[in-house]
Order: sequence, then structure tokens, then C-alpha cells
Amino acid sequence: MKIMAVNAGSSSIKFQLLDMPSETQITSGIVERIGSEKALFTIKFNGEKHVVETEIKDHGVGVSLILAGLIEHKVISDINEIEGVGHRVVQGGEVFKDSVLIDEQVLQKIIDLGEMAPLHNPANATGIKAFKAVLPNVPQVAVFDTTFHQTMTPDAYLYGTPYEWYKNFGIRKYGFHGTSHQFVSEKANALMGTTETKVVVCHIGNGASLSAVKNGHCVETSMGFTPLEGFPMGTRSGSIDPAIPSFMGNKLGLTAQEITDILNKKSGYLGISGISNDARDIEKAISEGNERAKLAFDIQAKQIADYIGSYYIYMGGLDAICFTAGIGENSPVLRQMIIDRLSVLGVKLDHALNQLRGERLISTADSKVKVYIIPTDEEVMIARDTMRLSH
Ligand code: AMP
Repeated sequence: MKIMAVNAGSSSIKFQLLDMPSETQITSGIVERIGSEKALFTIKFNGEKHVVETEIKDHGVGVSLILAGLIEHKVISDINEIEGVGHRVVQGGEVFKDSVLIDEQVLQKIIDLGEMAPLHNPANATGIKAFKAVLPNVPQVAVFDTTFHQTMTPDAYLYGTPYEWYKNFGIRKYGFHGTSHQFVSEKANALMGTTETKVVVCHIGNGASLSAVKNGHCVETSMGFTPLEGFPMGTRSGSIDPAIPSFMGNKLGLTAQEITDILNKKSGYLGISGISNDARDIEKAISEGNERAKLAFDIQAKQIADYIGSYYIYMGGLDAICFTAGIGENSPVLRQMIIDRLSVLGVKLDHALNQLRGERLISTADSKVKVYIIPTDEEVMIARDTMRLSH
């Protein structure tokens, strides 16, 4: 059966069509710059990439273009071959403890939760509406970034803020990248041949987060109420002293929102190095002796190691550390910098294996903790849940 996995942003729709249950990707693509006269529609099929520049006035037009493209390139002969559409939704709050079949009530809750994720949930909802309009009889499933973290206990998800903030306004840690953390931790358990494990997943991409997964259930994660919490990322600061925003707001004459924007968009690798948010540029600058680029990686590696140390204590041990996402999968330099800081735990990297790519064990035989590279696949997780809930 063919399942579509969708990730809709405010001006883009990323999609993948998967054959299930084999989990093989049939095609993928993206509609970008929705709302512009020079929007782009890209579809990848059979190793070829087709790009069309055209006006796409809204998400509805984008979805129609995707479906027409699938037929034009003979990926499908009829849109009814698509038996389910799974949508990535960023914020599921405490309402959604699992993925869910979308009806009007669910859609409304996703829109309401947009108060806590204004950059994401409204765009996700727009994508859902656009697919529902074109494929009214096909089951649509919402898969949330937050549900995997819903197994955390209050000592882990509550902040030291007034309890009424939690009760009245939902202020707590939700965590994000849940589909990735679930996919990678399940894969690690499969590689170790048991689910009785203590695993840390390091999802390090432009956005980045860690999770502590005990016996298959998430017990801690680094992102919080929003994806800004945690350690420094491509452009995000991660956690800082909470008194800094008002201090800097006064110094720079900026509003709270303007300061939040700087912490989201101008910090992290970009803000520290002054060069770029892209790890490849940072690595190149480090190799040329740039001190601030080195500092960007050093600060991130230090904080990641600190989280792993605290997860080791919280879980009462550690069996495996898994690296995933753009940087986690592709940067031997950063992996080395992180693992070097964990030598007290008896973790040892095999330097030759650490240079390689793809799913593999990269720790030495005598390392007390296994270290893996496990490429993530959020679309497969979305397709799995869509298949489970739509039939
Ligand atoms: P993601 O958000 O998971 O797509 O990851 C994006 C990040 O992965 C960017 O910072 C890229 O620079 C980084 N990345 C991708 N390929 C490589 C590579 N070969 N070496 C280092 N970083 C990489």
C-alpha cells in the first residue's frame, strides 16, 4: 500500500511516498516558496530530479501540483492509490499521547495548540486542510513531534516555575524531534537485541536535541516548552540564564519577541562563530585555524556531554549513545569532541570506524558504552503510524 508522509511548513510542503509495509521510498519532493510567482516544485523519482518553477498561490495549489506530478511521472496512475496521508505536527501538547486519525475535532485541537507553536502548528494545519480537500476519502493521520516524550515523569518535565503556570498555561517541557528519537532508539534496541536498554539519542542537525530512552520509553529530553531549549544549535542558543533576555532587551532597546528572535535565529553556531549556521562551514573554518569556529563546536560538545552525563545518572547507567541527523551522521569531528569528554564513563571511539558513514557501531570492543551512527528516518515513522491508524 502507498502512504504519503507530509511535512508542511508556512511556505513549503515536503513529501515522501512510501510503499508499506516494505518501508521503501517510492518518490520524494518538495514544494517551496508557496505564495510566490516563482515557486518551485521538485520531485525525485528513479534517481532523476525534476524541477518546475511556477506560480503556487497557496498550499491547496501545491498539493494539487504534487498529485498531478505523481501521475505525470507515472509514479501512480490514479490518486486513489494513495491509501493514507501522515502529517508531521510539531506540538501535540498533553492532548495527544499517540498519533491520531484526523477529524474536525482533532484539527481544531492542532490549531488551538498553535498558541504554543506559532511557527509550526498553523502551517501543519494548513497542510492537513489542503490534503483533506483534494483527497477527502483518504485517512489523514497526525504524527506529533512531542508524543514520544509524553512518557517523561513530572520531575523531568516540570520547571521550577510557579505550579500555576503549568496548570493554567501548560508551561512544561514537551520535547521535540520525537519521531526521530523513537526511530533511532528502536533501531539501537534492535541492534543490541533487547529492549531492556538505557540509550541516549543525539539528534544533531540544524535543530538539535538529545533524549534519554530507558527500556524503549523516553525519560528525559533536552528541548523544552519550545525547540529553543537545550544546547546551542545551528542558529539557536539553547538554554541560557533566564535573566539574560530582559537584561539584553534593556541594553539593546529590543522587545521580548525581538530578543527571542535573536536567540532562535542569530545564535548557536552562527552567533558564536560569526561565520555560518552550517556545520560544514564551521568544520572548514576550524581546519583553517579559526578560533571562534572551534569555540562554536567546543561549547556545543561540552553541553552535549554534560547532558549525557546527567542522563547517565538519571537512567542509572548507559548502554548506548546514538548519533543521528545531518551533523550527528556526518561529522566525525564533532562526534569525537563529544565522546572525548565522556572518557570518565569508559566510552571509547574506534577512530577508523568513526570516519565512516551509514548505520554502524563506532565504539571499540572494550568500550563500556556502545556508540552507534544510526541514520534517522522520520518519514518511515510517520508512514508506520499512518498505516497502523488508518486500517
Ligand atoms: P539536518 O537539520 O538534520 O538536515 O542537518 C543539517 C546540518 O547537517 C547542517 O549543519 C549541515 O552542515 C550538516 N551536514 C550535512 N552534511 C554534512 C557533512 N558531510 N559534514 C558535516 N556536517 C554536515
